[in-house]
Amino acid sequence: MTTARSDDVQGRAARVVTAERVRALTEGVTGSGRTACHSPFTGARLAELPAATEDEVAAVFARARAAQPAWAALPVRRRAAVLLRFHDLLLRRQDEALDLVQLETGKARLHAHEEVQAVCQAARHYGRAAPAYLRPRRHGGVVPLLTRVRELRHPHGVIGHISPWNYPLELSVGDALPALVAGNAVVMKPDTETALTALWARRLMAEAGLPADVWQIVLGEGPVTGPLLVRHADHVTFTGSTRTGREVARAAAARLVGASLELGGKNPLLVLAGADADKAAAGAVRACFSSAGQLCVSAERILVHASLADAFLDRFTARTRALRLGLSLDYGTDMGSLASPAQLARVRRHVEDAVAHGATVLAGGAPRPDLGPWFHEPTILAGVAPPMLAYGEETFGPVVSVDRFTDEDDAIARANEGPYGLHASVWARDVRRARRVAARLRTGTVTVNDGYAAAYGSVRAPMGGRGASGLGRRHGAEGILRHTEAQTVAEQRLLPLAPAFGLDDRRYAALLSGGLRVLKALRRR
Ligand code: NAD
Repeated sequence: MTTARSDDVQGRAARVVTAERVRALTEGVTGSGRTACHSPFTGARLAELPAATEDEVAAVFARARAAQPAWAALPVRRRAAVLLRFHDLLLRRQDEALDLVQLETGKARLHAHEEVQAVCQAARHYGRAAPAYLRPRRHGGVVPLLTRVRELRHPHGVIGHISPWNYPLELSVGDALPALVAGNAVVMKPDTETALTALWARRLMAEAGLPADVWQIVLGEGPVTGPLLVRHADHVTFTGSTRTGREVARAAAARLVGASLELGGKNPLLVLAGADADKAAAGAVRACFSSAGQLCVSAERILVHASLADAFLDRFTARTRALRLGLSLDYGTDMGSLASPAQLARVRRHVEDAVAHGATVLAGGAPRPDLGPWFHEPTILAGVAPPMLAYGEETFGPVVSVDRFTDEDDAIARANEGPYGLHASVWARDVRRARRVAARLRTGTVTVNDGYAAAYGSVRAPMGGRGASGLGRRHGAEGILRHTEAQTVAEQRLLPLAPAFGLDDRRYAALLSGGLRVLKALRRR
């Protein structure tokens, strides 16, 4: 593993996160308590931030609730225009976002840029398509011509949005965009460690024309402040671990409010017989080590057909060892730091436990304190099996296991093992074969001949997890309609749905039965 030149990150951090900037970003953010965020590049404190008390969270919800009706009353096109202006502002000012994302997460700049791309895709898509998604739809009624039906979409009111630290731009503002354009207000609790990015995005949305109280941010400890959002929200959108997701789901269920949950994964990558070993190896490096593997759709298990396993492994280990790790706020490094001491501890625990139980390290395997306090090498393990932690538990770091298969059915069964069902990647020369395999994988998304970006970036199609990986979908129609309540308005005209013209009940029932036969014969749906 080569090391990229370190630039003066401390100095640049001090210029990016000045006291004046933090004051501007937190202006209007409610919170009489104090909390702080730190930079993974150095471990040093980046900023002190306001933390909201229980009463203050309630007051924030009250303000959001008061602001929401006027926002919802605007024509959809006016709300959508805010997203389109935000798209342009973000592209123009992307360097500000990239600096903050990098300083707060420790990821490489190119991986931070993935967030800018994802948010712009969502802003453009919902900015252009929201009017069509949200417009009233006509349906055929119970009695053709006599019953006229329209389906309306109403915003829930105030969405409680809880997001993690790993994609602080995309999982904060990116996920808030469809909620906002649907006419909701949003009260958000980002992870405190990456709050500056979310606060910056909120200001940019205000510049794009979003009224101040429509999107509000509260900060605080997850187990304390998170449940307060669930207590007040009309709908909850949560991204984070499966463990916390279950708690959020229980609390939302007790209040009978809906919850969309984007949770963890243990994602497989399959290299089928006949695949191009070199392309698969290059793709696997991106799939496993982008954002240092701290990506929900990151591959943590590779299953490669025995016929090309040696060729694939040679290339995969060589490419992994050649990755440039480093500490830089410029493009040019391939992998940055882990985000926190807890992340480093988890990665070390998984690697050490696997090795102690007999796994072999094919590449990496060690922390790199010479680069920064929480750096860890991209790591490839062979011989990972139960009961090793790395076999079934999500590592959420730059650690992947590689195993061989000879029978495709067996590979599919192994890929489908375990409670998770978020994402899978399939590499093949024969694309039709890859599609057949994809359809048998129990995951919310599959990419063929790509790690994850083809699915995540295709914002017109739904994206989410099955099983323990979540409930509901972001992106596409589902990604906006989940932020609405459907209302059916049916108008009955000319004749009532009741016996008329002196028909007794028996004749009226016979008439209805005849009508049902006719509707079926007419192939009416
Ligand atoms: P986490 O569950 O610890 O925290 C997520 C958020 O929930 C944070 O804002 C946290 O402060 C808050 N929180 C903590 N306890 C809470 C509680 N009791 N009630 C309400 N909120 C609470 O997860 P994390 O470690 O921050 O994130 C990593 C996890 O997120 C991984 O499992 C990863 O796979 C998953 N993730 C999933 C997706 C996806 O789209 N499926 C995307 C990114 C990350």
